[in-house]
Amino acid sequence: MLVDIVVVGSLVTDYITRTPSFPRPGETVFGHGLSIGFGGKGANQCLMAAKLGAATAFVGKLGHDAVGDNYLDELKRTTINIDHVTRTSLAQSAVANVVVDDNGENCIVNIPGSNRLMTVEDVNAAAEVIKSAKVLICQNEISFDATKAALTIARQNGVVTVLNAGPAVPNLDPEILNNSDIVCVNETEAEVLTGVPVSGVADAVSAAKVLLTQGCREAVITLGAKGAVSLDLTSLAAGTDHEWVPAEKVVAVDTTGAGDAFIGAMAFYLAKMPTLPTKEKLRRSCAIATQSVLKPGAWLSLPAREELPSHLFDE
Ligand code: AMP
Repeated sequence: MLVDIVVVGSLVTDYITRTPSFPRPGETVFGHGLSIGFGGKGANQCLMAAKLGAATAFVGKLGHDAVGDNYLDELKRTTINIDHVTRTSLAQSAVANVVVDDNGENCIVNIPGSNRLMTVEDVNAAAEVIKSAKVLICQNEISFDATKAALTIARQNGVVTVLNAGPAVPNLDPEILNNSDIVCVNETEAEVLTGVPVSGVADAVSAAKVLLTQGCREAVITLGAKGAVSLDLTSLAAGTDHEWVPAEKVVAVDTTGAGDAFIGAMAFYLAKMPTLPTKEKLRRSCAIATQSVLKPGAWLSLPAREELPSHLFDE
């Protein structure tokens, strides 16, 4: 099987509560309602790339439970290849409690369950599909050993490796960073990884410089409504410095999954239009991610190619 993009990552069922404001510790608030959605950083990113028209495959693990059955049924309704989605009886399928306030901000408690039981053997069983891909995307939501194995197979076979190092952990295994061509993180994650507080473009460039010393060749930092910054080793050496694109000004309804939309879109451009200049990849990925904040939820907010302006797909 030949794919453009393979994601080795997480599948999470989201229980999404909408509330006027976040409860403080000890406080109870009345919310507007509950919805159940499909997510997990890995799955969101994979679906985004698939909705843009990339051939995608997912390597992941669900529990043997009703939550897992539902998720598998939903995956079957997408174009994502799921030959390497396995099941386990040793943990429940992952769930997340997502609370979204009236400003569109979110707080999330993720119970990783089966995602953390992903093993090196699971990844080795998917080695052929990883080798066949143009781009591999990993995150920090499954076992680090499984992520390391996937990045190593990809690196040894010339597959472009993208690490979305979220949720961020300090002192991330250097082998993971060394095998990641592109590290893409948001402001909070950038601070955890580098120790540089990031609240704007200048800070992001400082943090990106630290990320480049940790082993990747390109660092991409997303800045919510302020867009995204990219810095790579070549431009740093040439003194041409960073690229920054601001996001279009919109009224955000729900930012859940915006970072995943950005990464899925970036992977799409890396795989399908690799010669596009970095700034253009950044601009188009930002434009697609901004579309995702206009609708609630993760999967439901990811725009399909047909809903997007055709110039985003000009070669
Ligand atoms: P984040 O993960 O919050 O940094 O967001 C990822 C990407 O989503 C950003 O780089 C923007 O392209 C887009 N985005 C997120 N929040 C907003 C917003 N409030 N307005 C416009 N675009 C946004």
